Amino acid sequence: MSHNFTERRVIAIDGPAGAGKSTAAKLLARKLGYIYLDTGLMYRALAWAALQQGVLPDTPKAVSSVAQTSGLCFRLAGEHLRAYAAGRDITGELRNPEMNRYSSLYSAYAPVREYLWEQQRRLGEQGKVVMEGRDIGTVVFPAADFKFFLDASRAPSAATGSY
Ligand code: C5P
Repeated sequence: MSHNFTERRVIAIDGPAGAGKSTAAKLLARKLGYIYLDTGLMYRALAWAALQQGVLPDTPKAVSSVAQTSGLCFRLAGEHLRAYAAGRDITGELRNPEMNRYSSLYSAYAPVREYLWEQQRRLGEQGKVVMEGRDIGTVVFPAADFKFFLDASRAPSAATGSY
């Protein structure tokens, strides 16, 4: 089957933490002129909003509703995804050790994941995107045009993320 690359396309890259998904997704997106949709950024934004509301990850009930009350908004701007909370761009505040830790804790909650899956589908439907994450090809875009699963053996000294 031949593919016409002028059509909307979703490319999904799944795999465990530390396999190199983000690096591969970024390079592929740049090469194809696609948007790289950083799903980790969305989990980080959710963590940011939850903490802002004083909702800690050990309060399941509150965490379950935080997605709906977060006031978060995700937009594709140029080649990148940006996150807004109550209209303010918070993208630059999400890559730090605190958000590394908290995003992982909140991401364990089903309502958080379901909310972000919905957002990911909405964004993916907007154009040509490369998305990566552990469940992108299986859950978010099972009908993606192209799917890759990236894995890597763990070197004893390798520094890997955790999820
Ligand atoms: O990729 P990044 O380090 O920015 O992701 C932050 C956290 O968000 C991960 O540690 C993981 O817990 C969570 N995440 C997830 N599913 C994704 C992407 C990220 O659970 N698709």
